[in-house]
Amino acid sequence: MTRVRFAPSPTGPLHIGGLRTALFNYLEAKKNKGVFILRVEDTDQNRYVEGSEDYIQEALEWCGMIPDEGPKNGGDFGPYKQSLRKSIYKEHIDRLIQEGSAYYAFDLPEELSKARLDAEKTGETFKYGSENRMNFKNSLTLNESDKNKALRGNYVIRLKVMPGCKVSVYDEIRGNITVETDLLDDKILMKSDGMPTYHFANVVDDKLMEISTVIRGEEWLPSLPMHKLIYDAFNWSVPKFMHLPLILKPKGKGKLSKRDGEKEGFPVFPLRWNKEIIGFKEIGFLPEALVNYLALLGWNDGSENELFNLNDLEKVFTIDGIQKAGARFNYEKARWVNHQYIAKTKNSILAKNTLVSDELLDYPSEKHENIVGLLKERLYTLIDFKKEVSFLKEPDKFDEKAVAKLKEKNPKTVLYKILSLVNESEDGFKIKEPLFQWANKEKISFGVVMQSLRLSLIGNLTGPDIFSVCSILGKAVTLKRVSNFINHIK
Ligand code: GLU
Repeated sequence: MTRVRFAPSPTGPLHIGGLRTALFNYLEAKKNKGVFILRVEDTDQNRYVEGSEDYIQEALEWCGMIPDEGPKNGGDFGPYKQSLRKSIYKEHIDRLIQEGSAYYAFDLPEELSKARLDAEKTGETFKYGSENRMNFKNSLTLNESDKNKALRGNYVIRLKVMPGCKVSVYDEIRGNITVETDLLDDKILMKSDGMPTYHFANVVDDKLMEISTVIRGEEWLPSLPMHKLIYDAFNWSVPKFMHLPLILKPKGKGKLSKRDGEKEGFPVFPLRWNKEIIGFKEIGFLPEALVNYLALLGWNDGSENELFNLNDLEKVFTIDGIQKAGARFNYEKARWVNHQYIAKTKNSILAKNTLVSDELLDYPSEKHENIVGLLKERLYTLIDFKKEVSFLKEPDKFDEKAVAKLKEKNPKTVLYKILSLVNESEDGFKIKEPLFQWANKEKISFGVVMQSLRLSLIGNLTGPDIFSVCSILGKAVTLKRVSNFINHIK
C-alpha cells in the first residue's frame, strides 16, 4: 500500500516549492491508488505562525489535492499534528533511553557556546559526539545521584551515535548515500521544552503512520543518514526516500526565494497571505495551470508534451521522470501555461471568476460569456481581462497619429458604407462579408477598411477581432461610435 505524506511546518504561507512537494506526493499516491496524508509538523513553537495551517489546507484544496488523511480530514493514524502527539514521542524516547541508544544531556547553553568557540579557535567545527561526549555533563558522565538531581532541571535528549561505522541509505533519485558515523554528531532528539526535534518526530511519525515513501525537498538530504541511525536505533526498516531537486532562481545561483518574486514581480505563493503578499490565485492563475507548471519543475514524461492537468498527471507521473538537477523557475513559462488553460476553459466558468466578473458589471449579463469568449485567447493571467475588456469601452481619445495617416487615405466613403451596412444588419457580424466585397469592387484596400473600423470603435489599432467587437457592442453602440468618429475626423 502506497502511503505518502506532505509534512509542512506551519511557519508562514506555503511557498510554491512546498506546494510542488505536496503535488509529487499526491501524484505518487494517486498513481498507485494509495493514500495522501497531510501532517502538520509544529514542534518548533518559536517558529509557529498563526493562520499558516489553514493556509496550507486551503492551498491544497484550491489545487484539487485533497488529503485523504490529515488534521481536517481525519484518519486512523492521527493525530496528524505533531504538537498533539507528545505522549507518543515520550514513549518512544523512553525506549531509546532504556536501550542505551539515547542519553540525557544537561549542558548549559553557555557551556556549549564556550566549547564551540574553543573549537573554532583551533579551526574545527564543533561537534557533540562520540569523540568528546564524555567531556560533557550528561547521563553517561554523571553519577546516579547527580543525574537524578539534574533531571529535575532542564535537559535535552541526544542520540548516541556509534563511532567507527558507516551508515548507508538509498535515495530513489540520487542513489546510495554513505557517511562515516564519526562525522555525525549526537543529534538532539528531545528539546528542553519537552518537544521532539524535527528529526525525531519525523522518523517516529513516518514509522507509525506507515509511510511507504518519503518525498521531500533536497534540503533534507544531509539529514538522511542521521534519520537512518534513528530507524536503526529502533530496529525499524526504512521507507523509500526521494529528495526532490531544488527550485532555482530565474537567474543566477541558489534557491528561488520570496525576494526573487518581489524583485521580478511574480508571486511565489499560491494564495494571498496578507496585504503585501498576494498569490498566483489573486494574480489570475487558474489552479490547473499552476499545478501543471509546478509538475514541470523537475519532472517530464520523456516526451515534448508540457500540458498535463491533474488528472493526466495522476496517470502519467513516474518517479523516473524526476530529474536530479535543480529546476529553474521561469515566470514567462508559467504565464504561457496559464494562457493555454484560460483559452481552454469554458466562458461560463471564466465569467464567474471575480477578476473577470468585476470587470463585466457595465455590460448586460446576456453578453458576458460572449465577451469572455472574445477576449480569453488574449489573456495570460485573468488580471489581463481588465485591460482587454477596456477595448469595449467608448474611446475617450483616439490614436491621433493613426487617425492622421488614415485621413490621407480618404476613409469617409468607407465609414459611410459601414454605417449603412450596420443600419441594414441585425447583427454586427454580418457586415464583414458585404463590406469586404464592396471594398474589393471599389478597389479600396482592406487595410483602410479595418483601420477605419478599429479607430472608430476602440480608438486605436490594437485589440481583439473587430467584427466580434461590433457584434458584442450591438447595432446602436456601433452606429454611435462610427458617427462620432466621422465627426472627429471632420
Ligand atoms: N517539516 C519539514 C518541512 O517543512 C518536513 C520535511 C520532511 O518532509 O521530512 O520541510
